Amino acid sequence: NGTITHFLAVKIDDTERKRAEEQLKLYTAKLERSNTIKDSLIGELQELKKKLEVSAKTDPLTGLNNRRGMMEKVDYEKLRFDRSKRPFAFIIGDIDHFKKINDTYGHDAGDFILCQVAHHFKDTLRGQDTICRWGGEEFFVLLPETDLNGAILLAEKLRARIEKEIFEHNNHTLRITMSFGLSIFDESYQDIDACIKRADECLYKAKASGRNRVVSCEEA
Ligand code: GH3
Ligand code: MG
Ligand code: MG
Repeated sequence: NGTITHFLAVKIDDTERKRAEEQLKLYTAKLERSNTIKDSLIGELQELKKKLEVSAKTDPLTGLNNRRGMMEKVDYEKLRFDRSKRPFAFIIGDIDHFKKINDTYGHDAGDFILCQVAHHFKDTLRGQDTICRWGGEEFFVLLPETDLNGAILLAEKLRARIEKEIFEHNNHTLRITMSFGLSIFDESYQDIDACIKRADECLYKAKASGRNRVVSCEEA
């Protein structure tokens, strides 16, 4: 008849649920943080991979292609030749009496000259040409879609530029000359190696006939 005699209450202890919820939030935040770290690590790893690929094809002293980098470009040029049949050229240039530079002025002076030669080659050649440090003081150039006359002209330009250049290192004035051999890859060749060998033979001939000169496959 309207008089309250008892109270009834239903109670749930949700301490555990709350704790579990807090932990879930904590782990979700941790997971998100580690995903961000993972993403940035993957990014760094890919960057490192790219750098490694580049450095495997680069000469550390001059920054030019090394042999490996060059042969990749040569293979590509050969594929282009197979389609177009347009010849391309190789020039091999070797510094004359380079040992004397090292012996007289020291290895640093020699390294300096190598970097300078790389710079003059880059500055003289065309954008489509590829330059490589082939060996110690030997430089190798690939001239796409270039015939004999074009290649002789470029090799002669390189030779003349190096001959007239005055290099200053540690208060010493140094001058050098270079010898060049060149060959043209056309349908007369079965493979690239034979054509490179031909350029090498021409270089040898340029050395034997007095140095500071260009010898082409036509005359050798
Ligand atoms: P040639 O006119 O017949 O080419 O004579 P050369 O003295 O240039 O030839 P040789 O092959 O006798 O000597 C090449 C020298 O190049 C020997 C080596 O010490 C030097 N050389 C090779 N690589 C490097 C390098 O990275 N730095 C320096 N400073 N010298 C190098
Ligand atoms: Mg030499
Ligand atoms: Mg040499």
